[in-house]
Formats: sequence, C-alpha cells, structure tokens
Amino acid sequence: MPDTPMVVADRVSKSFGSNEVLKSISLEVKRGEVMCLVGPSGSGKSTFLRCINHLEVVSAGRLSVDGELIGYREANHKLYEMRPKEAARQRRDIGMVFQRFNLFPHMTALQNVMEAPIRVKGLSKAGVEANARALLARVGLAERADYYPAHLSGGQQQRVAIARALAMEPKLMLFDEPTSALDPELVGEVLDVMQGLARDGMTMIVVTHEMGFAREVADSLVFMDGGVVVESGVPTEVLANPQHHRTQAFLSKVL
Ligand code: ADP
Ligand code: MG
Repeated sequence: MPDTPMVVADRVSKSFGSNEVLKSISLEVKRGEVMCLVGPSGSGKSTFLRCINHLEVVSAGRLSVDGELIGYREANHKLYEMRPKEAARQRRDIGMVFQRFNLFPHMTALQNVMEAPIRVKGLSKAGVEANARALLARVGLAERADYYPAHLSGGQQQRVAIARALAMEPKLMLFDEPTSALDPELVGEVLDVMQGLARDGMTMIVVTHEMGFAREVADSLVFMDGGVVVESGVPTEVLANPQHHRTQAFLSKVL
C-alpha cells in the first residue's frame, strides 16, 4: 500500500495505573520519512516507541504500521487483541535500536548480526553470512566482523546494533536516544550511519537530543512534553521559530 503512511497514531493514550503517560497522541510518518521526536525526560518518548514495537500495549486510540493495527485485530467493528504469533510477525518488521547497545557479549559482531535471521526466520548460517557481512560493511565495520563487543568502542557497538536490526529487513526503524550513552567523539560515526540509512529511504523515528541531526536529516520534528505533542513541523522552521514556550524552553537548553 504505497500511499498509506508507514506509521499512523490516532489519539493514542497510554497509562500506567493512574499515570497517563501518553495523552491522545496523533501523528503520521510517511514512507521513507525521518521523524525526530524530542522533548524533556519523562515526556513519554520511549513509551511511544515501545507501543509501536509491542513492548507496551496502548490504553486507547489506534496505532498502525504499514496500514495494519498494532497489537489488535478488527472484526465486526470490534477490536481483539492479537495472538502472540501475529504480534511476533508484526514485530519482525520493525527494527529498534536502544541507548544501550544490548549486543550479545559472547558473540562476535558477525554472530550478533546473524543471530536473529537464523533464530527467528530459520535461515541457514551459510545463507545469512554474506548478508551479515554486507551489513557490517554498510556500517563501516567490515574489518571488525570477528571482534567481540568488549573489544569494540561504544560507537562501533552501536553500529553493530544497527546492522543487527537491519538484518531482519525491517520496514521501519526506531531509535531511542542511540547516541546518548556515547562519548562525544563517537556520536558522529553513529549519526553518519543513520544519515546513510535515511538517504537509502528507510522510514525512521528517532528520539534524540542531537538537533544538528534533526535539522539536517529529519523531514519532521515533533516536540513532546508531558505526554502530548506540543508542536511539530519542518525541523528548520520549528528550530528557528518555536511557537510554544515549552518548546522554546527546551531548545534553549539543548541547542
Ligand atoms: P521519556 O522517554 O520521554 O523520557 P518515558 O516514556 O520513558 O519518557 O516515561 C514517561 C513516563 O512514564 C515517566 O513518568 C515514567 O516514569 C513512566 N513509565 C514509563 N514506563 C513505565 C512503566 N513500565 N511502568 C510505570 N511507569 C512507567
Ligand atoms: Mg526515553
């Protein structure tokens, strides 16, 4: 369905007990677009990404990826929770990269990238190795294929994590502060890989405080605070001329 947006959130809310963390979030990400999601700590950014990736279930509203409701099936105008198998199928198409690299420490970079296609898709080792090596080359780590995570820098580990997510051939990539845990001198190499992905047409939602990346790479910027979308638009415009005082206050701290 080429005309359907890749991600549609329609009045999505999420509560933990009495704490309403997402309050009627509506937004769209079109195919091939990069959206940057920014906002103060605790505003619900991670929770929103986790709802897209089946790590949380929305409390109200509708969330769909590639025209399919996430986590629910609709029949006779009613919603039914998806069976685990259906949910797993949806999840396979969505890649996620976290602040912490979460690589398997007992596996080499190459083995980390090969693991999911073998385990989840049931492909043979021989069949996935060439693709895994190509992905490591794409993130600039062809020479590090046989290194264990402990012998890679944080930036290199994060690039392996990106290659590992790409190995499942996702149609959507979610990044949750992928450079926040890195030493400053290692941030650029990870952002460069992400920029390359964007250039190749990957649809991405990126939670980040890197406003340079947002300005240069993102098609849209969404500012969240207190579980609501306060403001959104073309990054250069939002950054140059924020309309809301909460956006102004936030940007004055991170710019
Ligand atoms: P952000 O990523 O913008 O910093 P989060 O989505 O992590 O924000 O958190 C938003 C709010 O939701 C916080 O107040 C946090 O304490 C709460 N929260 C997140 N996950 C859970 C959970 N599993 N159980 C209870 N509260 C949670
Ligand atoms: Mg977060």
